[in-house]
Amino acid sequence: MNTSVAFIGLGAMGYRMAAHLPKQFDTVYVWNRNFDKAKQHATEYKTQAVELQQAVQADIIFSCLPTSQDVEDLIQTLEIKSGAIWVDCTSGVPESARKLSQQLAEKNVKFLDAPVSGQTIGAENATLTFMVGGEKSAFDQAFATMQVMGKLIKHVGDSGAGFAVKAVNNMMMAVHLCAAAEGFTTLKAHGVNLNEALDCINASSGKSGVTEAVLPQRVFNRSFPLTFALPLLAKDTGIAVDLIREAKLSAPVIGLTQSLIQTANNLAEPNSDFSTAIKMYELWNKITLD
Ligand code: NDP
Repeated sequence: MNTSVAFIGLGAMGYRMAAHLPKQFDTVYVWNRNFDKAKQHATEYKTQAVELQQAVQADIIFSCLPTSQDVEDLIQTLEIKSGAIWVDCTSGVPESARKLSQQLAEKNVKFLDAPVSGQTIGAENATLTFMVGGEKSAFDQAFATMQVMGKLIKHVGDSGAGFAVKAVNNMMMAVHLCAAAEGFTTLKAHGVNLNEALDCINASSGKSGVTEAVLPQRVFNRSFPLTFALPLLAKDTGIAVDLIREAKLSAPVIGLTQSLIQTANNLAEPNSDFSTAIKMYELWNKITLD
């Protein structure tokens, strides 16, 4: 296709996501702060490693950085092509999306908040879910580029709505993580075989993505592979709590979960996967979930 595409931020997600773009688009620019990663990507996937200022001359510009603050700081330094659409796949802050959307509109650039779910395996297999906020016409224009990297691509509302959906999703996952840690710690304390219990629960109403994937693939086998860093989950639960505060809602489970995830993050080693939050319970209770 003639549309030129750029991808900024080749981290655990971005590196794998950008790898699919050359299958559909002739011009795919990539940029990363540590530029060696961009060069490596170009060699591996036939993308073009370019300076940041050149990357933002593409028609559709993707970004996937840790936080909205990182995206804001980067955008302030740039002259983006007039008429471009910026699709931000960072799990970010809704208020920041609204601000960037207004700022960029003055330069005739559209901003979509388009966070993704599906983890690194979803990025690798192009099966991500995109939850997108912003102008519907910009969503329609960018749809084909997102489709190359995802399976379910949804316009969920105005600017900020995508980031809100992502924060609430990750908060719910964090609630499930804490619930599973507490539930399985209780079972182990009562001498129950955890693997057999897991099979029963995964065929029952207490199951979740955590019991179906996180416990068997990361916790019980003690592998805790780093694919989604615990500080990033703590960031997401913080965004969800801010949304609750802004709307003056009462949501005690979410408030407590936020404290638990922050505490687990404070206790964790650097570069820990989100699943290591369970180790906090193991420490408190002197019970290992294996
Ligand atoms: P990583 O830490 O693996 O990658 C972060 C990327 O951002 C790297 O390319 C890094 O560059 C770059 N970066 C960091 N800070 C800056 C900065 N100040 N300026 C420019 N570039 C910067 O993160 P992930 O890929 O795991 O996550 C990215 C986003 O996607 C986060 O918002 C996360 O919450 C979300 N997400 C992550 C998922 C996962 O499973 N990992 C799943 C779904 C969403 P450098 O290489 O130079 O350090």
